[in-house]
Amino acid sequence: MVTDLDIARAARLLPIQEIAARAGIPEAALEPYGRHKAKVGLEFATARDGAAPRGALVLVTGISPTAAGEGKTTTTIGLGDALNSLGTRAMIALREPSLGPCFGVKGGATGGGRAQVAPMEEINLHFTGDFHAITSANNLLAAMLDNHLYWGNELGLDARRVSWRRAIDMNDRALRQVNAALGGVPNGFPREDGFDITVASEVMAVFCLSKNLEELQQRLGRIIVGQTRDGRNVTARDLKADGAMAALLRDALAPNLVQTLEGSPALVHGGPFANIAHGCNSVIATRLALQLADVVVTEAGFGADLGAEKFLDIKCRSAGLAPSACVVVATVRALKMHGGVAKSALGAEDVAAVTRGAANLRRHVQNMQKFGLPVVVALNRFTSDTAAEIAAVQAAVRPLGVEAILCTHWSDGAAGAADLARAVQALIAGGTASFEPLYNDHMSLQGKIETVAREIYHAASVSVPPPVAARLRRFEEQGFGHVPVCIAKTQYSFSADPTLMGAPEGHVLPLREVRLSAGAGFVVAICGEIMTMPGLPRRPAAESIGLDAEGRIEGLF
Ligand code: ADP
Ligand code: MG
Repeated sequence: MVTDLDIARAARLLPIQEIAARAGIPEAALEPYGRHKAKVGLEFATARDGAAPRGALVLVTGISPTAAGEGKTTTTIGLGDALNSLGTRAMIALREPSLGPCFGVKGGATGGGRAQVAPMEEINLHFTGDFHAITSANNLLAAMLDNHLYWGNELGLDARRVSWRRAIDMNDRALRQVNAALGGVPNGFPREDGFDITVASEVMAVFCLSKNLEELQQRLGRIIVGQTRDGRNVTARDLKADGAMAALLRDALAPNLVQTLEGSPALVHGGPFANIAHGCNSVIATRLALQLADVVVTEAGFGADLGAEKFLDIKCRSAGLAPSACVVVATVRALKMHGGVAKSALGAEDVAAVTRGAANLRRHVQNMQKFGLPVVVALNRFTSDTAAEIAAVQAAVRPLGVEAILCTHWSDGAAGAADLARAVQALIAGGTASFEPLYNDHMSLQGKIETVAREIYHAASVSVPPPVAARLRRFEEQGFGHVPVCIAKTQYSFSADPTLMGAPEGHVLPLREVRLSAGAGFVVAICGEIMTMPGLPRRPAAESIGLDAEGRIEGLF
């Protein structure tokens, strides 16, 4: 079998200078990392950070994910390639992969088949070191905090109320809860601590939402690390950590330029978790791409209820972005699973199950329409799909005034997404987008959570324990009432129950806990379990990754 890695390796990549020239990035603004990767100098990248975006922004999102896989990243890349092949100057803006999934279950995040960004081994592993810089900045703050306790704790920080955790870019459940500073007087004051995976760090969210270095340092300074005994917030600025953190992040904040297998320019930069943070690439990269290209294709993680909602309500709101069109990716296989078919039975034709499962797709499409976005469905074709099943998906969305376009970019590259690209061009040219966030800044924090639950999840209500309601009111009293909410719940269902597939109605969303991310500028609303440090599966992907006789990496996917 030909793997994604085989295809990537067989591709002839162009020197990154040529890709930059195609994108309109002058050589002087390029800082090459080897031959096929480069950072775009921050001065160039943020030169017009106050200007209105020039190009049209296209959001690629998806149905509720299933074990069958959907292909959002693959479609983002295929669509970018197809637009370029039709003569539209298009750029792609993606997240950087995390080592956690690379070595765990899901694998890398560079697309698949003939729709990939390259060099895939490098992008998936250390790339240009951004995640290492983010990890270091996170841990510098942790070290300075414990050092502050050690040297007399002038700020009166309560060691029991420290919320700042350490970070590492690895799935390592053994680090979820640890005891720090054991070993007596020379090692400080023992306290409970823990590690989050780097993509769940607030530093990552801050990094991705900042328009420039100045804003980065301001947001870093606002990060709350804990409280004093009388409940006063202590921030990174109080610890005088924000300057050194910004220094560590300076070079990383410059966006990374790479190419697709077909030579389209792609910015791959930043990568926050889509549960505890907003889950999409950096604002700097998106805004730079919008200055350079006529069309920018970008992806939001998870299903549209989580990834796209946060992209629109958090990222677009904070960065002044307004998408022109939205692509919802679906597969026949995944819709069958939403229609009740087990993963083992996906090989057999089942039109009725596709039709039942399409309720999930319809809900996501209608949700995107609520934000004022024109929508097209990308039906990412798998070899097992039948003509009747494909027709069933098309029939299911037609009453919504939406086309479902069959795409074969995974097997055919740009040519396989040409119809999708033409449909996206038509949506942009139609100019019908009138983007509005779902709720306004002035609504109460609880009201914002209830609005998302009602409008996007179709929940009957939100159950809010009194201490959680009180905490939300306290955030408002402290001056954080205007921020958006970042809801953390399972990506597998519109509800908080991962087994409720399809399009459940009238469920109750259980709000368990709320956390203030004052640097990122949102309140995290936790509904169900939230994973900030994943574990590895029984058979991690890492077991199959290694080097061949020539020292080339194998087994990455
Ligand atoms: P997402 O971004 O939605 O998580 P990806 O685009 O990363 O999904 O794709 C997940 C996996 O599915 C990748 O390994 C990719 O190669 C594979 N894949 C995507 N589309 C197809 C397809 N049409 N046929 C077979 N495999 C596919
Ligand atoms: Mg993806």
